[in-house]
Amino acid sequence: MQHFHIDREILPGERIELFGEDHNHIKNVLRMKRGEKVVINDTQGLSHICALAGFGEGCSCFDEEERFPCETEPAARIVLYQGLPKKDKMDLIVEKAVELGVSRIVPVMTGRVIVKIEDDKKEARKLERWNAISKSAAMQSGRGIIPTVDRLMSFNQALEDARKLDRILIPYEESDTVGCTMKSSREAIKGLRDVKSVAVFIGPEGGFEAAEVQEAMRVGAVPVSLGKRILRTETAGLAALSIIMFELEDL
Ligand code: SAM
Repeated sequence: MQHFHIDREILPGERIELFGEDHNHIKNVLRMKRGEKVVINDTQGLSHICALAGFGEGCSCFDEEERFPCETEPAARIVLYQGLPKKDKMDLIVEKAVELGVSRIVPVMTGRVIVKIEDDKKEARKLERWNAISKSAAMQSGRGIIPTVDRLMSFNQALEDARKLDRILIPYEESDTVGCTMKSSREAIKGLRDVKSVAVFIGPEGGFEAAEVQEAMRVGAVPVSLGKRILRTETAGLAALSIIMFELEDL
C-alpha cells in the first residue's frame, strides 16, 4: 500500500483530505478508485489505513478504517548531539540521520567548533532550513514522526540534556586512550537493546577535547569506537546511527 504523510494528528472518525502533490499522485498517477486503500502516517507516531471516499476541490478524501503504531519507528528514541560542522554539512547530516531513525538532532557548540552563528536571526534561519529538510526526509522515508532539529546548545548544556536519556554514547576518535576497544564498543551497542532512549555525541571536524570526553564519561557516557579509521564528522554520526539501527531494527 502507498504511504502518505499528514503534518498533524488525525482525529478518530474525521475525513482526511490530501492536497497538492499527494492529491495529484493519487488521482492522476495512481488513478486510484473509490474504496482503494493507502496508509497515512500522522505526526503522533500512528499509521492509519484509509479508503478513498472520493475527490473534492483539489483534494483526495479518505475515511480511516484502522489505526496502529507506526512500524517504521526504531524501538528506542535516538538523539544525535552533533558538533556543529562547517559549511552546509548539517543539511546532509540531518537528512541522513532522519532516514536512519533519529528522533531529535541537537547542534552542539563544542570547544573545537569553528563555525560561529552570530545572532538568533541567523540561527533561526538555519533551524528553519534544517527542520524543513527533516520533514522532507521523514515523509520520503515513511517515518511515523517528524524529527526536530533543536536550538544550539553548549557542550555542558547538551550533556545535561542527554542525562535525561537512558544511555549516552560518545564515539571518540581516540577511544583507545580511554580504555575503549572494538569489543567494548560492540557490547555497548548490544546493551542498547535494553533501553528506551539513547544519546549519541559526535564531535566537529576538530574532534572532541580530551576534557570534554572526560566530562562526558564522568556523567556516565560510554565511549565507543567506530573503527580504526578517522571518519569525517558527517560520516561518523551516520555510521553510529547505522550501527544502532542495525542492532535495534528487529525489536
Ligand atoms: N580529531 C580527529 C582528527 O584528528 O582528524 C577528527 C575528529 S572526527 C572528524 C569528528 C568526530 O567523529 C569525532 O569527534 C568522533 O566523535 C567521530 N569519529 C570519527 N572517527 C571515529 C572513530 N574511528 N571512532 C569513534 N569516533 C569517531
